[in-house]
Amino acid sequence: MTISWSQDTNKDNQLHNLVIEYRQAEVTIPYPGSVVMDILTKNVSITSVKDKKVIINLSPRTIDWFIAGNFNYLILDREDNKGIVSAKSIIQVMDWQSYPTYSQYDSIMRNFASAYPSLCHLDTIGKSINGKYVLALKISDNPSLNEDEPKVFYSSTIHGDETGGFVLMLHFADYLLKNYNLDTRVKNLVDNLEIWINPLANPDGTYGTGNAISSSSTRYNANGYDLNRNFPDPVTPYTSSNIEQKETIDMVRFMRKHRFVISANFHAGDEVVNYPWDYFYNKKSKYHADNTWFKSISRAFADTVHVYGPAGYMTELDNGITFGADWYSITGGRQDIITWNLQGREVTIELDVNKETPAAQLTLLWQYNWRSLMGYLENALFGIHGLVKDAHTSVPVPAKVFISGHDVDSSQVYSDTLSGSFIRMLAPGAWNLTFSAKGYHDTTINNVQVVARQRTDLAVEMRSITSSIDSVDPEIPLLFPNPASSFIMAKLPEKLSGKVNIKIISQSGMKVADYFKDFLSGYPLEIDLRGLAGGEYTIIFKNTASGILYRGRIVVIGRSF
Ligand SMILES: [Zn+2]
Repeated sequence: MTISWSQDTNKDNQLHNLVIEYRQAEVTIPYPGSVVMDILTKNVSITSVKDKKVIINLSPRTIDWFIAGNFNYLILDREDNKGIVSAKSIIQVMDWQSYPTYSQYDSIMRNFASAYPSLCHLDTIGKSINGKYVLALKISDNPSLNEDEPKVFYSSTIHGDETGGFVLMLHFADYLLKNYNLDTRVKNLVDNLEIWINPLANPDGTYGTGNAISSSSTRYNANGYDLNRNFPDPVTPYTSSNIEQKETIDMVRFMRKHRFVISANFHAGDEVVNYPWDYFYNKKSKYHADNTWFKSISRAFADTVHVYGPAGYMTELDNGITFGADWYSITGGRQDIITWNLQGREVTIELDVNKETPAAQLTLLWQYNWRSLMGYLENALFGIHGLVKDAHTSVPVPAKVFISGHDVDSSQVYSDTLSGSFIRMLAPGAWNLTFSAKGYHDTTINNVQVVARQRTDLAVEMRSITSSIDSVDPEIPLLFPNPASSFIMAKLPEKLSGKVNIKIISQSGMKVADYFKDFLSGYPLEIDLRGLAGGEYTIIFKNTASGILYRGRIVVIGRSF
């Protein structure tokens, strides 16, 4: 990038004309100190801070404010977009050495879904202002089912002129689909995760009203808004001059629906993995509670890139990673909102110092990054994978899952309303998890071990405060003879009369019997033990209508068959 000194008195006019002609222009100013930076970030798009210089991208919406501020600025030359080569066919796009037109992109996304119906579905996040689709692929085994698998999300090019990640995402989707039956690492990801990929979050920025990427590609959406400064943010509430954009509303709705456990938003202009927080004025702590974990997954992404990329690639700031606000603050950025409001874990990955990766370098971008793309998603397979259930009814419980003395600033997670499952990715160590849910006593499980790149399963039972279960008499059903070898008789309380579900659970927690019997008050039930190995078991009787439940302990005498 070259810098053109523009010292004539018409500099403001020149800048203004550039913004009108190209819908954006970049300037640089000397680093003005944190107070002015704070004002700047709420009014213009800061895109980078390098060598004590701030790079600012201006749009038709922000140019007048900037010029009125009398900043000491230089206009940066526009990046030459001669490196953008549009493909002549879909086949050529899928050599991954050229850029698709919008219609080729649209077809490729549809083709993925039709060529791999057992692995891939196409969904629409929304439509841009100019009527182009914001598309997302769901890649998973059984894509038509809503399986209880961790949901993960990759999204690129929310800044329309940061194009390398767009093709990288298409290539990644193609790689997963083509290699599902060939590569166990791919199969493991696709079988155990629900992978969502949105290659192009801002089609109007990339394509404008046309069909090919051209010099009219901009960072902004059709209304001149920087979408990665437009997410709902407590620092900069929406006003009549800062309106939540259609693309933002659609993306928030999509991410709220899916509750991704981990995600990444791909950009260009720098080469660094940027982890939360980017900003937040009302935080209690500078860092996210899981800062150590965030740093380690960012380190892993960059370090893997360093193995396969050339010297000097993705080495900005702390050798390719940074805590967002240590670099520069932004408001309305996606990673903070998703991590704060939706309890996701999102990072921002800057893939290339060139905003528009030259077509000839797209293959290299892939070679440097694809292993890191795989490894980053694998994070969702590790950490604590838990299931929260009602101790008596086994109904899933939506609970808040938090670590007392550790969690701060909304870093807790929640178990799923439908399945009761949750994932908490954490740095290695021993953790004390507390579960809290309306109508239940708090439950704490101490000393849950987390080991690097391993999964810890956790079954959590919560005791209800108010339901009928809590009024269960402590009286144990009369079980005789006990111990027994073949049959045991159970004399149950009258209130269990009716259809009764019988469950027998071994000491290791395995359910060894689960069936129904009709219980008539006064008549003991006969329980068949002949299929059971010797040992101690818990037996649970539950009236299927009232949910009233009793449990007892039985000892089966070992027999030789
Ligand atoms: Zn960007």
